Formats: sequence, C-alpha cells, structure tokens
Amino acid sequence: MRSSRELALDILQKTYGYGSFRGEQAEIIEEVVSGKNAFVLMPTGGGKSLCYQIPALCRPGVGIVVSPLIALMQDQVDALTQLGIKAAAINSGMTAAAVARTQNQLRAGEIDLLYVAPERLLMDDFLNLLRQSKIALFAIDEAHCVSQWGHDFRPHYTQLAVLAEQFPTVPRIALTATADQPTRKDIVERLGLADGRTFVAGFDRPNIHYSIQPKQNPHKQVLHYIEESHRRDSGIVYCLSRKMVEEMAEWLVSQGLKALPYHAGMATEHRSRNQERFLREDNIVMVATIAFGMGIDKPDVRFVAHMNIPKNIEAYYQETGRAGRDGLPADALMLYGMQDAVMQRDFIEKSGAPEAQKWIERQKLSALLGLCEAASCRRKIILEYFGDTSGPCQNCDTCLSPPPTFDGTIAAQKALSSAYRSGERFGVGYLVDMLLGKSDERMQRMGHDKISTFGIGKEHTKSEWQSIFRQLVALNYLTADSNEFGGLKITPQGHTFLKQRETLRLRKFTGKVKVTRTAQGRREDAFIDEADQELFGILKAARLEVAREQNVPPYVIFHDKTLREMARLKPASLTALAGISGVGEKKMERYGDVFLGAISGFLDKVSG
Ligand code: ADP
Ligand code: ZN
Repeated sequence: MRSSRELALDILQKTYGYGSFRGEQAEIIEEVVSGKNAFVLMPTGGGKSLCYQIPALCRPGVGIVVSPLIALMQDQVDALTQLGIKAAAINSGMTAAAVARTQNQLRAGEIDLLYVAPERLLMDDFLNLLRQSKIALFAIDEAHCVSQWGHDFRPHYTQLAVLAEQFPTVPRIALTATADQPTRKDIVERLGLADGRTFVAGFDRPNIHYSIQPKQNPHKQVLHYIEESHRRDSGIVYCLSRKMVEEMAEWLVSQGLKALPYHAGMATEHRSRNQERFLREDNIVMVATIAFGMGIDKPDVRFVAHMNIPKNIEAYYQETGRAGRDGLPADALMLYGMQDAVMQRDFIEKSGAPEAQKWIERQKLSALLGLCEAASCRRKIILEYFGDTSGPCQNCDTCLSPPPTFDGTIAAQKALSSAYRSGERFGVGYLVDMLLGKSDERMQRMGHDKISTFGIGKEHTKSEWQSIFRQLVALNYLTADSNEFGGLKITPQGHTFLKQRETLRLRKFTGKVKVTRTAQGRREDAFIDEADQELFGILKAARLEVAREQNVPPYVIFHDKTLREMARLKPASLTALAGISGVGEKKMERYGDVFLGAISGFLDKVSG
C-alpha cells in the first residue's frame, strides 16, 4: 500500500501539476491525513490551500472549508473545478434550489471540498446535514477572525468551538497569514487545537518591496509611481474614505489610467462589476477602501499603494500581502502624514470599544507610526513585530537608500517644550508656527507670542518641524489627544527624555521623495528576452480567450508564472508541456492543444 506521503505527492504532481512540496506542506498534510489537528501560520502566497485541499482528497469524505468571504469561495471552487476536483460552495448568494442541489450532492458523497461561511455552518440544519455525511476534515481559513486580538474579529468564528464538541474525531486545521502571539493563543484555545501541532512558516514576503514616503502631493505621488513602475500592471490603491476613493479614481482616469472605484457605499451591482473587471482584465487599478481585498485571490496584483496610513501593522501586512501572491516581484507603497495619524487615533477613541480594547489599538497604532518614521529596514521592523527575526532585507526603501539622520536632541527638546509651554492643547500646525515665530490673531490672543519657545526654531523649515513632530509621536514622546482636536501631550517617556537629557538621532527630512529600485526594474532584468516577451503576450491573449469561454478569471486557467515558463521553454509536445509547473493532467487535456498551437504558431512566424 502506498504511504500517505506518496499519495499526497501523486496528487500534487498529477492534479496540480507541481513538482514538489514547499516548506512544511508535506508534513502538515501528513499530519492532517493521519487524523490529527493542526494550526498553520504561513504568509500569503505560501501555499496554505494545498495544506487542507490535499488531505481532503486523501481522506474519505468531504473537506469542509470555513471561509469568511463569499467572493473568495467562488474563485476557489472555479480553480478546483479546473483541476478536475469536485468542489462546491454553499452561501447566501445562492437560490434555495441550488443550495438544495448541493446538499443532495453532499449527502450522496459526491463532493470532495465544500466551502461555507461560518454563519451557515453553525445553523442547526446544516450541522444535522453534516452529521449524516462523511467528513474528511474541517479547515478554518482566516483563523485570526476567531480572536478579538486579531485585526478582523468575527463573532461567528468564536462559535466554531462546536466543531470540536460535535465532531471530535474529525481533524481540524486552522490557517492564517497574520496573527501575533495573543491571537495565536486565542485560535488554539477557541478551536480546541491544543493537542495538535502548530506550524509556523516565517512571515516574510521577500518578493514585496516596501516603501513608505511622506505625503506631499498624494495624487501626483501615486500617479508618478504607477507611471514609473507599473504602467502595464494590476494594482490596488487604498484610500481612507469613500469620497477619496471617488476623487482618486476619477483623477487617475483623467490621467489616462484604467482605474475603477470600489467602496461599501456603491450599489452592490456596480461594486461587483468593478471587482469582476479587476479580476478578469489586465492592468486595472482598483481604487478602494479596505472593504476591498479580503478574499481577493488574484495572484498577479503587482502593487498595493496606501494613500493613508492603515490601522496597524497587521492590517498593513494583510493589505500589502495582496500584492505578489504568485511570488513574482511586487511593490508596496504607503504615503504617510501626521493628519492620518490623528484621524486613526480619533477612530480608536470614538469607537465605543471598552477601554482595554482601546488601549490595545493605541499600542498597535503607535507601532505603526514607528514603522513609518523608521530610519532602519522596514521589513525587519515588520517581521520583528510578528516575532520573526531578520537582517536588513535590501528590498525596502530604507535599505536601498538609507535616509540621512541628524542629532535631533535640541530639536526634540524645543518641540516638547513648545507643547508644554502652551498647555499641551495644540496640534502640530500651531506648535510649528510658534517655533517659527509666526503669530496670528489666535496666538496673540492666547499670549503665545510672548512665551519663551516663540520663534526659537528658525533653524528648521516648516516641513522639517512636521517631520520632527511625527517622529516624536512615533517614539511615543508625544501623543495626539483626540479630545483636544489633535492637541499634543507629553507622555511619561517624553518627560523622561527631557529629564535625562538623552541624545536622540532623528531621520532627516529631505523634501525629495526618494525613488528606490522598484519591482518593475527588477522584473525586467529577471525576465526573458524580448522575443519571449512577445510570446508571453500571445499566450496571455490565448489565456484570456479561454477564460472568457469558461467564464472564469484568466489566472484560474494558468498563472502568469506558468505562462512565463512556457514562453521561455517553448514546449513542442504534450510531454514537454506537462513538465511545466502548474500544468496538471486535467488542464493539459483541456488546454494543451491551444497553448502548444500558440507556441508553434509563434515559432513558425519568427523562423519563417
Ligand atoms: P495562500 O493561501 O497561503 O495565500 P495559496 O495556497 O493560494 O497561498 O498558494 C499560492 C500560490 O502558490 C498558488 O498559486 C499555489 O497554487 C502555489 N503553490 C502552492 N504550493 C505549491 C507548490 N508546492 N509548488 C508550486 N506552487 C505551489
Ligand atoms: Zn530592508
């Protein structure tokens, strides 16, 4: 008899068309196939799906996949169907008749993988149905949703504890890409995984280039960035508000880009149409609020730009993680301004959450601000936040173009005193004016044009002072108090700094927005010669046609990576084609002739 390892490898090669397992995939799969529980932390694009899909195929019965988003389910079902795997989803978007049909298939044991939302899974009727079926495993995807410490808490997820109680013999595998220590603990406790192994792959996404720049002219900065590095790419531009989304999308269109808006305030139909176009067409820029992206599995998103700072480092990593799932070089850009920090702070204070929760959120926000103001490797800071260690990465803005620093001791003392002398009630703008000796009617009325810190900061420009204040907030020497409309207060750390007269190096504000080597440049070095580039374009066109016929997104047919390999190796036979990563048996059967035809047509043309 074949071992479960051999069976799993056979499925990987024949069904998926991949040569070998990555990282700990084989071990995780073996564990679950043998009926044990597991908790898997793996970065986006690391290959989590195979960790539950293959065990579901190896074990008798159906694998139940709990996933928070309906949009993602259909994509996964389409992709599995293309591989010849019997997959289905049950969700609220389906007609009663369609649900009944799927349920019958489930009872009859005709489905290998079934995707459901937790709300559905927890219904009594559905649990009853599951008791009448043979279950191979439960996979809980996006498992961080189970925890209030996580960045996307979903109350229904906490009730998934019933799985352990009601199906004690069915293995459970929980998976997530982002979870800090307290979140991990919660997942293991709530889902009853303490007896299973935890597999932690590093969090690093080495193919993503990180860059964080001060916000100056955000529209132009983003446009410039897209035009310089991502002219022909798909990407996402995140904005904080619906209004900003509308404005930015409109403006990018006026500048000749294929940009579409997406936010929760749009009619559902319009929203899904835009999402559909983003998935199915090439080089669309999606301008969106964070309502967009959860469950977007598009592998070839080449850049993610943030017009505003995100909520915290987890959210940032999750959002930027949507770039480069296919492992090819991708870019993440964030624009950062003090106003955004005040706004995020405001969201926390006005959230109505219990004080303990607010405290957590404040700590998380200040860690994010620290990342923005860092003069050292961005990736190192991010990975350390998640408990990973790393050296400087040579693939972020601060590594590739180290920012100049200066002795900021005196400047910091002046900045803190200006806040102190004016009663810790004023925001950055006011304090900077005061340091520069620019009085207005309000300042005169307050008598602040007479105090000792008035006009003592003329050695720095306005922008320099703004940067200094941002860094002091990031260092947690100053804190923006939302009740006082952004008034800056000195924290206990700030007082200690003043008392102990420590020296402080700060990042120097240069005014120039640095352009570091981005993914585009590297991609073109790494890529194939010009002739192959042409063939790659031909193969993409062939793929688009097949995808339209099948009514699925192009990447469900073949990933860019697979088409690139075809363009480079130019297989002339089905056997040669089968050797290319991502070409499984079913796809070869269905599409082999089309792609071989495109390749031989191209070769005839160039040789003839
Ligand atoms: P995640 O869910 O962790 O974000 P996926 O499961 O979507 O990642 O996998 C990311 C990509 O890597 C997919 O295109 C997947 O088919 C591919 N992949 C996964 N495992 C392997 C492997 N062993 N060999 C080659 N490609 C793989
Ligand atoms: Zn770095």
